[in-house]
Amino acid sequence: MNYHIAIDGPAGAGKSTIARRVARELSFIYVDTGAMYRTVALYLIRNHVDADDEQAVAAALPRINVSIAYENGEQQMFLNGENVSGQIRTEEVGNMASKAAALPCVREKLLDLQKELARTQSVVMDGRDIGTHILPDAQLKIYLTASVETRAMRRFLEQEQKGVSCSLPEIEEDIRRRDEQDMHRSIAPLIQAPDAVYLDSSDLTVDEVAEKIKALCRQGI
Ligand code: C5P
Repeated sequence: MNYHIAIDGPAGAGKSTIARRVARELSFIYVDTGAMYRTVALYLIRNHVDADDEQAVAAALPRINVSIAYENGEQQMFLNGENVSGQIRTEEVGNMASKAAALPCVREKLLDLQKELARTQSVVMDGRDIGTHILPDAQLKIYLTASVETRAMRRFLEQEQKGVSCSLPEIEEDIRRRDEQDMHRSIAPLIQAPDAVYLDSSDLTVDEVAEKIKALCRQGI
């Protein structure tokens, strides 16, 4: 039987690092659903489609083909056949993704792809609505969060490491704005599923969080 782990939580909580790690150690597939929204967002940015204009976005969607492949176990995102994995990680794309993700037509488009990936295999899937909407029957659901300050500092250090200059207060502001957008939209808002385990990673290392999730998984298997 396939085993599904759903990890939801706000921007910068460390979901992708943790999910990737847990998936590797359990030999499951890691599915990063945020990358799918980011791929749609990249198209909207490149083609100057205003994400506040729902009709314009809906009209653009048939021209957007989002597909996914795995290379050496790493998820690669394709936009109309072009590998855009390296181009979807910017703050600009993240912010556009958050706006676009509030539109029902965009969510509808990505729903089947996400469900299909979990249909035939064991996955660790991360996002905002995985435990609540995409995999409501997941055997293990985690709501992973951390304080705004911790998340902003992590992002800041990440960017610094990449050699990208940035300001901590701006990153913090960005994270607050994204939380606001993701938690208060009318469709599939970010909320903790009633049966999800709440994990605050503010004072935990990646190792500690990954171990906790694997222990929960072992208890459930
Ligand atoms: O996780 P990541 O920062 O890559 O996600 C980008 C944006 O995509 C989020 O801010 C959120 O608005 C949206 N998203 C979503 N549902 C998901 C995954 C991401 O709405 N399952």
